Amino acid sequence: MSLVDHALSYVRAINPYQPGKPISELARETGIAEDAILKLASNENPLGMSPRAVAAVRGEIDELARYPDGNGFALKDRLARRLAVEPRQFVLGNGSNDVLELIARVFLAPGRAAVFAQHAFAVYPLATMATGARGIEVPARDFGHDLLAMLAAITPDTRVVFIANPNNPTGTFAAAEDVRQFIAGVPDEVVVVLDEAYNEYLPPEQRVDSVRWIDRYPNLVVTRTFSKIYGLAGLRVGYAVASPAVADLLNRIRQPFNVNSLALAAACAAVDDDEFVSASYQINRRGMAQLVDGLQSLALRLIPSSGNFVTFEVPAERGGAAAANQRLLAQGVIVRPIAGYGLPDWLRVTIGQPEENARFLATLGSALDG
Ligand SMILES: *Cc1c(COP(=O)(O)O)cnc(C)c1O
Repeated sequence: MSLVDHALSYVRAINPYQPGKPISELARETGIAEDAILKLASNENPLGMSPRAVAAVRGEIDELARYPDGNGFALKDRLARRLAVEPRQFVLGNGSNDVLELIARVFLAPGRAAVFAQHAFAVYPLATMATGARGIEVPARDFGHDLLAMLAAITPDTRVVFIANPNNPTGTFAAAEDVRQFIAGVPDEVVVVLDEAYNEYLPPEQRVDSVRWIDRYPNLVVTRTFSKIYGLAGLRVGYAVASPAVADLLNRIRQPFNVNSLALAAACAAVDDDEFVSASYQINRRGMAQLVDGLQSLALRLIPSSGNFVTFEVPAERGGAAAANQRLLAQGVIVRPIAGYGLPDWLRVTIGQPEENARFLATLGSALDG
């Protein structure tokens, strides 16, 4: 038996996460200059970072010989005031991905199960499998979460249910009251993870203060991130809000310094930059209209999205999604193939600045058959 054969079988069974192709990689492969490449593949903010966050990072540079504040006091304090919860209800993570894994490690193990939806965020099955627990994938309805079917799928050994709202990569959104009723129906001993990475992109009338529900449902954990509307994807910082008891459990197993100093400083500065968040929201709304219009003009089917991206179909008679993706890459445009999410005929494009959206649409138009 080789060393690899002795590794945990459930780790050997994992298919690694496939990130959006980095600009530098496409530049190496094609010889296209990096600054001529358009990446709309990872739901990054086309406006970049908040200027306040940029200044905060610069101000932190000279302090990097020191360890970060392992308790993230300043960031938790700001978040606590903003969300009107106690600082001890937060768990900070190296991206919210980190927090999702902490939840899995605290509540899952061989002999236990986690429930998630078909076409939901890829990290749920990955984090589940890494613990040896069983994943229960519930078929999607109209590409979104079928909450009633998910409730029915909960088994006696289920300990975690993951919900992405809005979902990535489909952009589907479950109405707040449906989600609340779902949480009310989940047994007390099952953690409900409500992943709200795209929460800030929702129009005000769809947004709900889900953090308020934690008092009533102490098994609820809400996760959010600074990677999307706050534009800090490269710094890696996100968080969970939970009941004090659950937050305490998660904090016991995280690395003592899991969020670095630059990320803490940037997030502190970004969290109250309402002007930047509002500008990012507005550019996303306009870009969404532009892309939906453009995709419809190309006679392509799309899934109505509540995020900062749109998922659209390139059927075989138009050349198929894989070929369209290759042709886009050859022209220096990176989008995200999502065959790994069970959607082999679909591509996901992140909403960019107006001229970026226009370039994407023109390039896509020339990449299609028929
Ligand atoms: C992008 C994303 C995340 C978080 O990413 P981090 O960069 O790790 O914070 C979490 N959930 C969903 C659904 C996402 O799309």
